[in-house]
Amino acid sequence: MSPEEIRQRLEFYQDLGIKQIYRRQIKPSEVKPSEVKPSEMKPIETDIQLPSMVPAGDTLERISADIGDCTRCRLCKGRKKIVFGDGNSHAKLVFVGEGPGADEDEQGLPFVGRAGQLLTQMIEGTSAKEGIPLKRKDVYICNVVKCRPPENRTPEPDEMEICGQFLFRQLSAIEPKAICALGSTAAKALLGGKDGVTKLRGKWHKWHDIPLMVTYHPSYLLRPYNQNAKRESWEDLKKVLHFVYD
Ligand code: SF4
Repeated sequence: MSPEEIRQRLEFYQDLGIKQIYRRQIKPSEVKPSEVKPSEMKPIETDIQLPSMVPAGDTLERISADIGDCTRCRLCKGRKKIVFGDGNSHAKLVFVGEGPGADEDEQGLPFVGRAGQLLTQMIEGTSAKEGIPLKRKDVYICNVVKCRPPENRTPEPDEMEICGQFLFRQLSAIEPKAICALGSTAAKALLGGKDGVTKLRGKWHKWHDIPLMVTYHPSYLLRPYNQNAKRESWEDLKKVLHFVYD
């Protein structure tokens, strides 16, 4: 099998939700396959370098083409449009949210509803105050899942895992200087673990080798009683903007 064929096969297994490939612990010649018990199986340990899940020379266009008219998870059933992502494909800064809402689902674009307008204000207003010439079109914005979850519920772990391969490829193709995860779902998808945004925000983390800041999702900031969170979000964003653009 060529590396490309192996990559495709692994992607297929990942789409099916298979995370590990197993081999028998005993030699096949020693036992009939039907005699192998699950307890006698262990994950493959090998020096063979498996090919990257990111194809060489990957681009946003190719990732979008690979998504196609995606039916890899149940979120395809209720969506109107796939919301792939939007912005500068060479952005130094990428914002990652949770998933599309009703407005995004209609338009096929991320963060275009009320929360999106607030995000635009935060990016452009904070940049202007800090003397950084930055517009929303200069950054890249996408979500963990590309299709709207019903009733705007939080995406399920399996949906995040299946669709997460595309986010992984988007971030790898753009290779930004920093990532800003908006809300707990994006933080969990990118960092793993169970900690929420309150614990993670304001500090630098890493997604692979790329510095990652966690802050509140703009939809949380729209609630009138979250004034402290607004101030903290503003502080987080200032840190990110100065790190990326100074
Ligand atoms: S959420 Fe992602 S994996 Fe699921 S159907 Fe939409 S594009 Fe495909």
